[in-house]
Amino acid sequence: SSEEVLNSYLEKINKSKMNGYSTVYDEAVEEARDIDKNGHNGILAGVPVAVKDNISTDGIPTTCCSRILEGYTPPYDAHVVERLKSEGAIVIGKTNMDEFAMGTSTETSCYGPTLNPWDTGKVPGGSSGGSAAVIAADEAPVSLGSDTGGSVRCPASYCGVVGLKPTYGTVSRYGLISYANSLEQIGPLANNVSDVAIMMDVIGGHDTRDSTSVSQKTNYQNALKDDVNGLKIGIPEEYFGEGIYPEVEESVWNAIHKFEDMGATWEKVSMPNTSYALSAYYIIAMSEASSNLARFDGTRYGYRADGDNWHVMASRTRAQGFGTEVQRRILLGTYALSAGYYDKYYLKALKVRTLVKQDFENALSNVDVLMTPTMPTTAFKLGEKIKDPLSLYLADVNTVPVNLAGVPSISVPCGFSDGLPIGLQIIGKHFNESTILQAAYSFE
Ligand code: GLN
Repeated sequence: SSEEVLNSYLEKINKSKMNGYSTVYDEAVEEARDIDKNGHNGILAGVPVAVKDNISTDGIPTTCCSRILEGYTPPYDAHVVERLKSEGAIVIGKTNMDEFAMGTSTETSCYGPTLNPWDTGKVPGGSSGGSAAVIAADEAPVSLGSDTGGSVRCPASYCGVVGLKPTYGTVSRYGLISYANSLEQIGPLANNVSDVAIMMDVIGGHDTRDSTSVSQKTNYQNALKDDVNGLKIGIPEEYFGEGIYPEVEESVWNAIHKFEDMGATWEKVSMPNTSYALSAYYIIAMSEASSNLARFDGTRYGYRADGDNWHVMASRTRAQGFGTEVQRRILLGTYALSAGYYDKYYLKALKVRTLVKQDFENALSNVDVLMTPTMPTTAFKLGEKIKDPLSLYLADVNTVPVNLAGVPSISVPCGFSDGLPIGLQIIGKHFNESTILQAAYSFE
């Protein structure tokens, strides 16, 4: 029964040391009982789903793993959560993440880091580290993450699961607490490509409450065909650059050769603006963050510090409520948007963004998909990079260009090095999730 399934997951979660969840929703049992009693004809009837803690859930705390949202429980569901529920899914809990999704390791959460289930001394990746770790540790069958610059694909890669960043506009962001709204999409994580396609069928589609949501509706499960005959693969050399582990490079090339054996062809493609993508991404993401996070001032919701007047209260609230990385980004973003610096930084970054997007358009005009390593390395040690933000930012080199361009991308496991998973990134044309899902499905 649904209740038995749910309870078996809850039991595992309660014994777990991974810290994958920020909130476990025990009351979900009621919903499972209800489904057992009354039946449900949805495609996810009785399936427990873990939801990243920056996606609003009616009646369940949603904190972005930040002290500033301590005690906040939304009075409404995000669009994606409404969709999940209408198909009979049960939210089993909220997953741990880097504070406000700013990070690559899930170490900036106010609830402490999530551990990598393959090696508990290593990070699970981030920022949706909880959403990936709970899949790898079998503490949920499917989950949702958000990907602003790699936050679904990076933890999918480090935890050896499948994760999809959909085309910008495919999944409604209504109810997703914004970090950098022009870059981010909610995306599913699961143990296999079929489950990711099912989740996309549920969460994808138009929503009038997100002005960037497109009206197109695709059937993602139709893409689950074991056939890559004639598929043209582009390999951008710029994604195999400095700092890449030889084992990662080797695994990805083995994967490409496997595609060749299955009837696909590959060629090298050039994406000359790749090296500027990381700087442009961080300027744009921090600028948007500085504006999006202005709403957290202690007035309406979450944490509130003492103060004799509003200004003192609000500034203390923000100083005490936001962690170091979030404060760093708000300051840098505010700087980049200030009069006198706007043209030099923000506007310049937008121009670079256009060039990066053109790189994708050019490359993808000759081939069907691009293949690269998702991350240049395997999961690193807990604590290893957290004191040096720049080294963490550098880890995102292969994922952020995709968000600047808005194209879809999936990470699928393609090997191991020293017991740690390696991820293959398959990037497609705008709204062409079908092709990358089909390639990933044929590969796994
Ligand atoms: N690591 C990137 C950042 O810190 C990506 C985060 C994300 O995708 N949310 O901005």
